[in-house]
Amino acid sequence: MRIARFSVDDEVRYGVVDSPGAGAANGHGADRLADLTVAEIAGHPFGPSAADLKLTGARYPLDDVRLLAPVLPSKVVAIGKNYADHARETGSEPPPEPLIFLKPSTAVIGPGDPIVRPAQLSKRVDFEGELAVVFGRLCRDVPAARVPEVIFGYTCANDVTARDLQASDGQWARAKGFDTFCPLGPWIETSLDAGDVELTTTVNGEVKQQASTSLLMHDIVTLVCYVTAVMTMLPGDVLLTGTPAGIGPLVAGDSVSVHVDGIGTLTNPVVDPR
Ligand code: MG
Repeated sequence: MRIARFSVDDEVRYGVVDSPGAGAANGHGADRLADLTVAEIAGHPFGPSAADLKLTGARYPLDDVRLLAPVLPSKVVAIGKNYADHARETGSEPPPEPLIFLKPSTAVIGPGDPIVRPAQLSKRVDFEGELAVVFGRLCRDVPAARVPEVIFGYTCANDVTARDLQASDGQWARAKGFDTFCPLGPWIETSLDAGDVELTTTVNGEVKQQASTSLLMHDIVTLVCYVTAVMTMLPGDVLLTGTPAGIGPLVAGDSVSVHVDGIGTLTNPVVDPR
């Protein structure tokens, strides 16, 4: 099931994205965006189970609503150097334990929202396409066997990074934390088996990153256990699982897309400050 957050008539709502009339056998890959609709959820989707979701009966063509970031997390926890080929392209070996850092909630933007390059402060702003885990429950010290219970679903993310500041600052809060540096979307897929899905990042249609999540050095179960041993995760909090090789710079006028098979495509334009 695909859960979106959207605005229509100046109100923000959650909804279930589907294609009425299309048989389930078609699968998501066969969907054309123009055929999709969003069925409004009463309240929010973070209940004890998906079976508790209540629809209001309102349904909108997806073309008639504005998709927003699918969650407003209290925090975004991200993992550095979690694909070996990316660690090597940065000139380092993959770390033996997960390397975690934070992106502020204020960096989050939705599909279609512009990534604003802080042109005065950074000369190199990079894309990093990533699979994102969305938590559905308050949780801490989650044992491996119970990780599936706390994962609400998955979405696409772009861990936008001021690469020059990452190197010069030593710690990453500034490089990773600018407003607009965490695009999320287009929606949350709640039924994905995320262990071996293809992730593709394109800039202006040209493929820059392509890898399977099976290449994660520390897999999703390991990451959830590791992070929740440190901090409590709240419903809607997000975990970025790391980026594969192929990172590169963005300039104003670019259009960057992160696609994850089984989820969809997150596309954002890049602009310089006005
Ligand atoms: Mg990253």
